[in-house]
Amino acid sequence: MPNITTSTDPDPEDAPRRGPLPAQPALARWRRALADLVFPPTCILCGAPGDDGRDLCRGCAGDLPALGLACVRCALPLPAPVTAGAGDDGPLCGRCRRKPPAFARAHAPFRYEQPLPALVAGFKFNGRLNTLRLMGELLATSLGDAAPQRPEAIVPVPLHMRRLRERGYDQALELARVVGRELALPVAAAACERTRATPPQTTLEGKARAQNLRGAFRATADLSGAHVAVLDDVVTTASTVDEVARALRRAGASRVDVWCLARTP
Ligand SMILES: [Zn+2]
Ligand SMILES: [Zn+2]
Repeated sequence: MPNITTSTDPDPEDAPRRGPLPAQPALARWRRALADLVFPPTCILCGAPGDDGRDLCRGCAGDLPALGLACVRCALPLPAPVTAGAGDDGPLCGRCRRKPPAFARAHAPFRYEQPLPALVAGFKFNGRLNTLRLMGELLATSLGDAAPQRPEAIVPVPLHMRRLRERGYDQALELARVVGRELALPVAAAACERTRATPPQTTLEGKARAQNLRGAFRATADLSGAHVAVLDDVVTTASTVDEVARALRRAGASRVDVWCLARTP
């Protein structure tokens, strides 16, 4: 896909490739083996030795809140099996039935329940890079398991420059880099920009949330015919990722998926 400016690795020969997502590329495996020698993996939740070369033990991994039953379109966790309003391939939430989002599919391995808020806060506000790496690896692994159609690039939800300066750290971009490295997909960080700073969505309700975001994003690349995945750490109402997807579709993207670590019930 020549029109997307990719910001980081992987090597051009690794991507884009169609079909099922591949196993971890050789270079990443080597890099990992070397790091494991120097810093043996330790579970970030209980301090026990990590399993499978990760900073997580099998016991704590099993305790993480899996997404479970959710809307096939936006990954909103659903309380009980839904019969009414089921789509061709699974249940749809009320909102997706009334007004389908601009993205085709959202994928989230986890519900945003403890310990996810603590883990996300760890990399978002306290700069815990091993937590960020672990979360990116878990997201990438879950995508491999789910075998979704492979996009051509990952587009992290852009953070406005002002907030980036305040925080000094763009968590969606950093998470996208880990996932991109694991899945050998380019990260097109420059494909979309935030045109203005918006108050955090959590401070607003309903209609105000949608108005807050209107026109807040602009695609800066020609995405004609491209299939891309928008990546954010946590998806709460899906308004933000929907607005980004809208901007990417306006720039010609043929399909936009949403990848996130956790979805708020
Ligand atoms: Zn543990
Ligand atoms: Zn939905």
